[in-house]
Amino acid sequence: MRLILLGPPGGGKGTVAKKLQKEFNIPVISTGVILREAIDKKTKLGKEVINIINRGGLVPDNIILEIIKERIKQEDCKNGYIFDGFPRNIEQANSLKKLNKELNEHIDYVFYFEIPFSEIIKRLSNRRVCKKCGTNYNLLFNPPQKDNICDICGGELYQRDDDKGETIKNRLKVFNNQTLSLIKYYEEKKLLTVIDADLSENAFLEIKKVLEKGTS
Ligand code: AMP
Repeated sequence: MRLILLGPPGGGKGTVAKKLQKEFNIPVISTGVILREAIDKKTKLGKEVINIINRGGLVPDNIILEIIKERIKQEDCKNGYIFDGFPRNIEQANSLKKLNKELNEHIDYVFYFEIPFSEIIKRLSNRRVCKKCGTNYNLLFNPPQKDNICDICGGELYQRDDDKGETIKNRLKVFNNQTLSLIKYYEEKKLLTVIDADLSENAFLEIKKVLEKGTS
């Protein structure tokens, strides 16, 4: 089963992706997580992308495609995967289509996380992430039990640099200008299901229902 989770930043894709990974035993491929790890480890890739990410822009397609190409050929992806944050524009979607064809596989479902823009800014500026296990929290509606400590692994929570001020606005602009067009793209390919993402637990259950119906 190969899935794409599509939606604005802060729409809850990462949280739902982790739940789907646990439920269906297929890995999440989050380009954002991969890039942030490269930044933390100060690799060549990390140094190349840090300024772009901190400004809220998109990393060049060729860099992203190399990452995806490498990743989906790995053993743990043989039964499928969940893309979180990829593709981000039509070029990436076309390249994915080509790559899937080369590997004799295809995307089964694309889920679009629908959420009002007014909610997104609130969510992003209150998001905190565990440094150790990557679990997302929200100080307003999903706070950790102890301040700044992950409930799951005890790791320290931090605020992503790109979840601050102007960068949030830029990310939303980029989403509107480049990523939104993928809704129509996947609708035309009859792959799209729109999910009400106001509550992440509901979004997970809605997706689970669609997937279980598809496999029954
Ligand atoms: P995310 O964690 O998905 O919100 O991604 C954080 C940042 O990483 C984005 O604002 C982009 O700068 C970069 N990024 C992540 N995925 C992609 C992608 N598929 N294409 C281009 N840039 C990306």
